[in-house]
Amino acid sequence: MSLTGYQFQLLPTTTAVRLGSRTAGACRWLWNWALAYRQEAWLIAKSAGATGTDYMGAEFMSAQLDGLKQSYPWLADAPFHTLQQTLRDLDMAFTAFFEGRSGYPQFRQKGGHGSFRFPDPKQFSVDQDWVKLPKFGWVRFNKTREIVGKIKNVTVSTDGAGRWSISFCCEGEYRLPNYGDEGVGADAGIAQDLTLSNGDVLSLGAPSAEDWVKLSVLQALAARKTKGSNRWKRAQARVAKQHKRMANRRRDKQHKASHQLATQHAFVVLEDLNLKAMTASAAGTMAEPGRNVAAKSGLNREMLARGFGRFKTMLAYKCERAGIPFLLVNPAFTSQNCPQCHHCAPENRENQAAFRCVACGLEGNADWIAATNIKAAGQAALARHYAGNTSKATPPRRSRSKTRTRLRDRSESGSPGIPVKVAQAA
Ligand SMILES: [Zn+2]
Repeated sequence: MSLTGYQFQLLPTTTAVRLGSRTAGACRWLWNWALAYRQEAWLIAKSAGATGTDYMGAEFMSAQLDGLKQSYPWLADAPFHTLQQTLRDLDMAFTAFFEGRSGYPQFRQKGGHGSFRFPDPKQFSVDQDWVKLPKFGWVRFNKTREIVGKIKNVTVSTDGAGRWSISFCCEGEYRLPNYGDEGVGADAGIAQDLTLSNGDVLSLGAPSAEDWVKLSVLQALAARKTKGSNRWKRAQARVAKQHKRMANRRRDKQHKASHQLATQHAFVVLEDLNLKAMTASAAGTMAEPGRNVAAKSGLNREMLARGFGRFKTMLAYKCERAGIPFLLVNPAFTSQNCPQCHHCAPENRENQAAFRCVACGLEGNADWIAATNIKAAGQAALARHYAGNTSKATPPRRSRSKTRTRLRDRSESGSPGIPVKVAQAA
């Protein structure tokens, strides 16, 4: 059993929008109130010599809710459980902070993103494309796919620009079918989104040049309006809408591409690109400013715009559900190595787009060559894995290429440690 989330666009009536805004506002207010209260209490306890961290937990804070509602009657407009859940969320935020997993809980700003959660399945019900929530009654949502599994909780959120969404957190057996006989390597490029070793190219929904232009025009128009005015608000809403449009398409394409990779191949190999390091290195340091900064940061912006990190996460869990291995290999030399004769030299690379081996004359698209090398490196890593994790037992076929590989273990990637399909093929 595992957890998964389903997010849909919520289609609330005007009344429901008003209640939703009030509820999100009440939860934000309560969060800020409880955070301030706990901060003050903690300072008092500390000055009295106390050393613990667990003051004013969610239970204590929940007990204050009745009193608070008498002082602030509008709090009672919000469904009770969403308020209680807010206090629990704050508790978890403090726990995460004290365990060093995240930063200190922050106060929440008015305007912009807001959300609230119904934590207990007893509080809601779902019928077709309708969901019944306490105080809201039946609200319609745009059900674009079936909800599989048992719904554990429901979160309603707004982007602050008039769009509402609902997400269902579900528990179930999420198996994906797999029809793969062959593994696949994929090279993430700039000219083409994702080039596969079998020659296919998958789109990851990178925003087009027109998208970026439209966004910057809308931003410039918004910047000319008087801040806080109605015209300014409408202009901001247009900017937010364009952002959302670009993000939605990206996520949609990423889901489609990762689904295809996970369900149609025996294993999937990607380069282990460290995007953060790439972005940092392009800017260089004070002592040694990066060379070619403009070109590189443009390239990196494109890479980040593709949300490659999120795509990798999607691919990892989909491969797990499909029961196939997902590998990350060292990207060094994948663009210079000849997959035919294994002559590895920078001269093999005629230019950004073309590869021609100076030893054997093999020609091809540079991204496709890289994808082929990535697949081979992954395959070698799998072979070593079956040989008992010792690289000496089965020397990698491409030892001269210096392409080192790394097989992610179960704890690291969540991929299955025993790749069934390849075991049969080997
Ligand atoms: Zn060659």
